Amino acid sequence: MEKIDFNCIFCAIAAKRAPATIVYESADAMAFLDIHPVVEGHLLVIPKKHSRNLFDLDDESGRAVIHASRVAARALRVAFNADGLTVLQSNERAGGQDVFHYHAHLAPRFVGDGLMSRDGNDRRMRWHAGATPSREELEQVAAKIRAQIQDD
Ligand code: AMP
Ligand code: ZN
Repeated sequence: MEKIDFNCIFCAIAAKRAPATIVYESADAMAFLDIHPVVEGHLLVIPKKHSRNLFDLDDESGRAVIHASRVAARALRVAFNADGLTVLQSNERAGGQDVFHYHAHLAPRFVGDGLMSRDGNDRRMRWHAGATPSREELEQVAAKIRAQIQDD
């Protein structure tokens, strides 16, 4: 039996001991809505097994995360008619990490949305959470994504 650290919020979510609005789950990974979305459909993809971040992620978890990200990305694109998608993954405090269980952010993108843009040679970031949706509102967003999930 693998040791589960319930001091880690994402381990608790993976074990279904903490609430989350899950849109996709495989044996080793999970995709759920960020509670402070920067855009409608903002997802987090995690391995179920605890890794602090990319520095200690094992290959099996990495493979599961990429699979879940690919499935979720395609569902997001259809559900919101997105023009693109950004994957953001932060490591350690200096890298912008706040939750120390590996996770990748998936954000649907639209031409001109300004969330992350190129300005000459600079990249500009306007990655700010808006209002915090209720669990019911998150459920409504999740329903749109779940309807487009195709796991193959
Ligand atoms: P990072 O700064 O990359 O570590 O991102 C952490 C993200 O986790 C933030 O966008 C938070 O809004 C999100 N977050 C924190 N706790 C939860 C939770 N219980 N359920 C869903 N998302 C969460
Ligand atoms: Zn964890």
